[in-house]
Parts: sequence; C-alpha cells; structure tokens
Amino acid sequence: MKIPETATAATLTVVGSDTPMAIRRIFCVGQNYAEHAREMGGDGRAPPFFFTKPADAIVPGGGDIAYPPRTSNFHYEVELVIAIGRGGADIPAAAARDHVLGIAVGVDLTRRDLQAEAKAAGLPWDMSKAFDRSAPCAPITVLAADRRLDSGAIGLAVNGTIRQQADIADMIWSVDEIIAELSTYVALAPGDLIFTGTPAGVGALERGDRVRAWIEGLPELEIEIV
Ligand code: MN
Repeated sequence: MKIPETATAATLTVVGSDTPMAIRRIFCVGQNYAEHAREMGGDGRAPPFFFTKPADAIVPGGGDIAYPPRTSNFHYEVELVIAIGRGGADIPAAAARDHVLGIAVGVDLTRRDLQAEAKAAGLPWDMSKAFDRSAPCAPITVLAADRRLDSGAIGLAVNGTIRQQADIADMIWSVDEIIAELSTYVALAPGDLIFTGTPAGVGALERGDRVRAWIEGLPELEIEIV
C-alpha cells in the first residue's frame, strides 16, 4: 500500500480573490444564543463552550450533501463563521478584529440523536458533530474596516419556509469575545475557522430538503440533502 504523501487541502473561496483560503482547523461555539440553549434543555445562563470539526468537513459553497449514516435526526444550525487571517494567543477582545480575515455564513450540521446520547452518557460529541461534510460554508467576504460585527440579520429556510431568524446581536459571546476566549485555550493560526453558534429554531432535515442560509450583506449558502 502506498504511503499517503499529501492530505487533500480543504479550501474556501474568498470573494474578489483568486486565492482560496486553506482551512487549518474548525472551532465551533456551543450554545451562544440563550434562546437556542433553552430549546436544547438548558436554562440559557450556562456559558458557551467550544468543540471542533476536522478541516475536511468543510463543503465549500454548499451544494448536494448526502443524508449521513448512523442518524435519524439530522439537524441544521445556521451560524456566522469567522475566518482567521492572523494568528495569536491570549488576544485581547479589543484587538480581536486585527486577526479576522473575513466572515461567511455556514451551517453546523448535527446528528442530534447521537448528540443527545453523548450528552446523557457524558461521552464526546465527535460523532454527532465532526462527521464527513458536516460544515457547508459560503465564500468568505473580507472584512471591511467599517464592517460592524455586533449586529446583522441571520436566518435559514427549509424548502422556502423560514425556520431560523435572529440577529447576531443576540449572541452571548460577541465575535471579539469568542476570539479572546478561544485564544486563551489554543494559539489561533491563519486558516482557522470559528463557527460562532446558532440561534433558536433548529430542526430536522430529510432527503430532498433544500436549505437556504443567510447573513445580511454576505453571499448566501444553499444546500440540498440527497
Ligand atoms: Mn452549532
């Protein structure tokens, strides 16, 4: 058997650039909107937390996604995605923007049944969150100097019916706070993505469903479950 020499590089298109961004790691924030934390059975007051997906879970630009194996409760979660352009550890919140290349809309696909089993048994979330093609993401928009990251409509529709509709102002940890907090655990590096958590309204997908996800001012993301 041949020894694998090069990994397949996961990349995301950057709007207006010929150079795609190579994805290094994917970090995700759990329960960063109080109303979603409550719909997941919490009281909405526990602090958010982090988990990860492999870089090659990215599905650049969306498109067809096969209904995954080992689940019968496959959920969508629309999220603001931060693309890190400059690395650092212990980044102060006030300096967080200096590390952001751009932003995008993504969907954190989740095997909700496996997640519930893992939570109940105190086991890791990996197989519920970090599976193949679990992170479809639209192209990255480079952050303009005057682009505010403290508000903006975010939403998701399934077959034309709006299922999630919120504002990123409702995030418990702001973008700056997420970068500051995460960079106390790990040194962030260029190419890292951060999925910043989903608002309320998560639900199940079935084969044939067409999903549209958006954030005000950014390219939309469309996926179809096949
Ligand atoms: Mn999520």
